[in-house]
Amino acid sequence: MSILKVARIGHPVVRQAAQEVPRKAIRDPLFQKLVDDMRLTMYEYEGVGLAAPQVHEGLRLAVLEVPGSDERAREAVPFTVLVNPVVTPIGDELEHGWEGCLSVPDLRGIVPRFARVRLEALDRDGKPYSLEASGFFARVIQHECDHLDGRVYLDRMDGMRSLTFIKEFEDHVAHGAGDEPGHQTEGNDA
Ligand SMILES: [Zn+2]
Repeated sequence: MSILKVARIGHPVVRQAAQEVPRKAIRDPLFQKLVDDMRLTMYEYEGVGLAAPQVHEGLRLAVLEVPGSDERAREAVPFTVLVNPVVTPIGDELEHGWEGCLSVPDLRGIVPRFARVRLEALDRDGKPYSLEASGFFARVIQHECDHLDGRVYLDRMDGMRSLTFIKEFEDHVAHGAGDEPGHQTEGNDA
């Protein structure tokens, strides 16, 4: 397995819509290696998600994994592979929470996302699955699937006023001011 180079905003691949993965390509050892390499790269950079365009592959593929966090009452999500995902909001409730992105290093911002979504995708064996997600899990799904359409979280912010460097986030948000209910105060990249 290899740790892959992460593309940052400014590289055109981050802004291009990714291509569907042909179903028969999923079993290809090269595709399977890409999934493993993305998993390793996500762990290396302590992200909670990674989309293929972030590693210079224009494919509709993303991985995610959310470690549990007692402090923030965040539900753990096991390693999940999303091939050709389709996300549909359930209801129109929005939640505002902090996000970061490996392609937008050193920054955090508050992003509105649908509180509940349905995800339909193929797993790494090409098997279709569907699930409903809420809270932080729903947020990570929406963040990753945006990458497949060439979008980053900055495009979804209500404005730039909450945009914060990680150091200032840790000094002023993570340990104090932002601790209202419903506010994610954990910094994570995806
Ligand atoms: Zn991202």
